[in-house]
Amino acid sequence: MIIMRIATILVILIGAVSLAITRPIYVSSVKDETDDFVEADNLVRHVRYLSEEAIPRSSKYPENLDKAAEYIKQELLSFTNEVSFQNYDVNNIGYKNVIASFGPDTDEVIVVGAHYDAFLRLPGADDNASGVAGLIELGRLLQSTELQHQVLLVAYSLEEPPHFAGESMGSYVHASSIENKKIKMMISLEMIGYFSDEPNSQSFPVSVMKLLYPTQGNYIAIVDKFRSNDAVGLKSAINKYTELPAYSINAPRSIVGIDFSDHRSYWAFGHPAVMVTDTSFYRNKAYHTKRDTYDRLNYQLMAKVVFGVFKYVQELSLSP
Ligand SMILES: [Zn+2]
Repeated sequence: MIIMRIATILVILIGAVSLAITRPIYVSSVKDETDDFVEADNLVRHVRYLSEEAIPRSSKYPENLDKAAEYIKQELLSFTNEVSFQNYDVNNIGYKNVIASFGPDTDEVIVVGAHYDAFLRLPGADDNASGVAGLIELGRLLQSTELQHQVLLVAYSLEEPPHFAGESMGSYVHASSIENKKIKMMISLEMIGYFSDEPNSQSFPVSVMKLLYPTQGNYIAIVDKFRSNDAVGLKSAINKYTELPAYSINAPRSIVGIDFSDHRSYWAFGHPAVMVTDTSFYRNKAYHTKRDTYDRLNYQLMAKVVFGVFKYVQELSLSP
């Protein structure tokens, strides 16, 4: 009898924890209009430029980082006049974030960011030319969108080691510079281009998670802290407006990968922030290798991620 009771309590506990991690939602989908709005060819062009022309782009190659930053700035300038560099020095070397502003100058802002540096001498197509390509394309979509809150698109320098988790990360520099504004939401685009239909192409930080998520790596993930509910909006938008499934994970930062991108810098200042990702090394086995090249990415699905983020940003900017 006591065993039955313990078993029942265990089942309820496991169920509750599973729900807290996955936060299932139901959304009714509308027609997927990604192809009418997002140009997958633009994504290819940006990823190719960054991963083939602007390499290596680690902190040891500031001239290539500058080349990448200049490219991003010029691309964004075709969508808004308000593009600037945020310059900062690390060990007497100059680095820069690229910041583009859309919409009215409001006290509450929405930030979408992606790091443009790459690890060592590697091409970094998925990590993170894909995120930057998405950021630039988002700029193209935002130029003709009515906005009631300011939207900042920020391309960051120095996300990769040895700067990762430190105050020299471009995202930390940006987050610390936001003083008189409230951040409504920060979205980090961190590797958004690799998908696979192969069985077991998706791995997990904890193997029991394969009971909670698909084991084919053909979806996008929204990552959030355990005690927060900030992922649900973006997850809903992607599921509503595109045919790409989006799942979310709310987990403690002790789970490896939860805070592995620029959203962590905004968490450090108490701002709401989520990461949208193809799950990085849990799926893309070319992560941080020289095989992380542009031809391995799926630009049609990447376009859907961008469209979902766009719809969410639009929704956020129109909500009070
Ligand atoms: Zn990255």
